[in-house]
Amino acid sequence: SNIVAIVGRPNVGKSTLFNRLLEKREAIVDATAGVTRDRHYGKSDWNGVDFTVIDTGGYDVGSDDIFEEEIRKQVQLAVDEATSIIFMVNVEEGLQDIDHEIYNLLRKANKPLYLVVNKADSAKEELAATEFYQLGVEKYYTMSSATGSGTGELLDDLVADFPTTDYKDPFDGLPRITIAGRPNVGKSTLTNALLDDNRNIVTDIAGTTRDSIETLYNKFGHEFVLVDTAGMRRKNRVSEDLEFYSVMRSIRAIEHSDVVILMIDATQGWESQDMNIFGLAQKNRKGIVILVNKWDLVEKETNTMRDFENKIKEKIGQFSDVPILFVSALTKQRVLKAVETAMQVVENRKKRIKTSKLNEILLPIIENTPPPAIKGKYVKIKYITQLPTYTPQFAFFCNLPQYVKEPYKRFIENQLRKEFDFTGVPIEVYFRQK
Ligand code: GDP
Repeated sequence: SNIVAIVGRPNVGKSTLFNRLLEKREAIVDATAGVTRDRHYGKSDWNGVDFTVIDTGGYDVGSDDIFEEEIRKQVQLAVDEATSIIFMVNVEEGLQDIDHEIYNLLRKANKPLYLVVNKADSAKEELAATEFYQLGVEKYYTMSSATGSGTGELLDDLVADFPTTDYKDPFDGLPRITIAGRPNVGKSTLTNALLDDNRNIVTDIAGTTRDSIETLYNKFGHEFVLVDTAGMRRKNRVSEDLEFYSVMRSIRAIEHSDVVILMIDATQGWESQDMNIFGLAQKNRKGIVILVNKWDLVEKETNTMRDFENKIKEKIGQFSDVPILFVSALTKQRVLKAVETAMQVVENRKKRIKTSKLNEILLPIIENTPPPAIKGKYVKIKYITQLPTYTPQFAFFCNLPQYVKEPYKRFIENQLRKEFDFTGVPIEVYFRQK
């Protein structure tokens, strides 16, 4: 998918443009801390073409104090991630040295580049904006941040320049499995254990692994594509801002997979970042397998495993039949079991239940435990069917769908999970008027 980065020195108006592009749209990940809160990353579209926008503005370091080194780093990161770059400058403050510097970084990227001169609110300012011609950027736009004028022209060109994709996915049709988790939980180690070679160099030093890639796994009768987010950290770019990009890359990887293997560190337990990844996978209706890694380091007593499992289940709530395995990527303990479980989840996610069977099994249960009556009105569920969607979704046809509340939906979900095996798969239950 196309990624548009908005780059420029602090306070030129990047966030204003970003917010305009995202207007009325939900940020992708309401659950992911640091991303949504400041909304640096979101989806937009123009004339029906979808794209992702990165606002590098969230990383402005102090408004008066411009740390050039910091800006340089931000720009470089954005440029690496983006397919197109909007370079924003501001007519009020005129062309500055730092603008030249940023431009020099941007032109080296050899990506479609759009110079946007912001705050050109009047004819006088439009004229002043011509100062920026001297940068020599081919694609030049003026914009008024107050009125938003100029945005359409920019977007027309931006979208028209997106590369057309004749790309044929060599792994088309194979399940995609993403290994996700916080830095240092052991993602690279697991990937290496699965792929059985050392093309990843795993060390304790953060930032030593490569970029997220897809690798074909074909062993022990299992064939799938391993989407590796281990390389979310890049060489020699160890810095706070990496957190944002690493989150963004894992979001992308998760969006493009069928099952997420969420690794957590047994020596640290379940942390909020783990919950964020879990929530993201669940919201995107991806299958989930939880691996509690580094189990070799844990001193075990009789109930250590069960206690650990219960703690996780407490946190993940309703979606309680997520497989939780205790593994060691390092010693390869239960690594194959993890693969088998993930493949089972792939199958569960594709599961289709015949309408006749659904009704035969669920209608008597519903008869026994109908939705509670509200104000003397009774909900009558007549008929159930699985929708023809990629992931398991079920429609319950009834007379008064609005009377079916959350607790009953949860009850129904539990019954579905109990009667048919949907282990590791988010399912959706809808009540509809016949
Ligand atoms: P990543 O950032 O998630 O890719 O984590 P790495 O795979 O780079 O692992 C980080 C560190 O944890 C490395 O020093 C690994 O050797 C170590 N590690 C990974 N898995 C295990 C494990 O199962 N047991 C132990 N003891 N160490 C592990």
